[in-house]
Amino acid sequence: DADSVKGKTFTVTTDTTFAPFEYRDSNGELVGIDMDLIRAIAKEEGFDVKIESLGFNAAMVATQSGNSDMTIAGASITDERKQTYDFSDPYFDSGVLMAVPESSDITGYQDLSGKTVAVKTGTEGEAFAKSIAEKYGFKTISVDQTSTMVQMLQAGQADAMFDDYPIVAYGIEQGNGMKAVTEKEAGNSYGAVVAKGKNQDLLQAFNEGLAKLKANGTYDQIMEKYLGNNA
Ligand code: GLN
Repeated sequence: DADSVKGKTFTVTTDTTFAPFEYRDSNGELVGIDMDLIRAIAKEEGFDVKIESLGFNAAMVATQSGNSDMTIAGASITDERKQTYDFSDPYFDSGVLMAVPESSDITGYQDLSGKTVAVKTGTEGEAFAKSIAEKYGFKTISVDQTSTMVQMLQAGQADAMFDDYPIVAYGIEQGNGMKAVTEKEAGNSYGAVVAKGKNQDLLQAFNEGLAKLKANGTYDQIMEKYLGNNA
């Protein structure tokens, strides 16, 4: 049960740049909603975490292969992933949103014909873009990091990108030169992830800790700290 995690140290893998869920601040510290959540839950439940910032796909693979105990990386709870992973209770409702450069003429998917679209390997954004690529006549390029997608748009190497809406909104607010011209797609909620059937005590402790943070106001504080008015 959740008590058996006390005093133990768990390896937790995460994405590199998925602000405001995980990113490095100006001091190089790994911060964000996921980082505050897992640290607060660990403290609440009496375990320690060793966090490794690997990138989304690498983080998920590490947990699947047993090199990591848990992934917390804004990972969407999907039926397909449930075949190989167990998820915690949901802690955030998300959805995919397209971003284009501020100067772009693209106003919707119908303008993507002949264009290049940047997506992140192994993500829901990638899956969604690929699911409509043929219909709208664009090609996708998969990269490992959100920051790379943004750089590709800034450099004119791609015309649009798909990422989760809070990440797109945060980037725009930070002045990354992008804009959103469509509505977000209905998406799945985020959950912490363990390999299927493994680390069940840790998963239980996560859920227990999350419930405590929701009850004592810490969860709301963390959301407000990073999402402000968007929380
Ligand atoms: N929520 C998306 C997914 O799970 C993206 C996660 C991420 O890029 N860190 O596929």
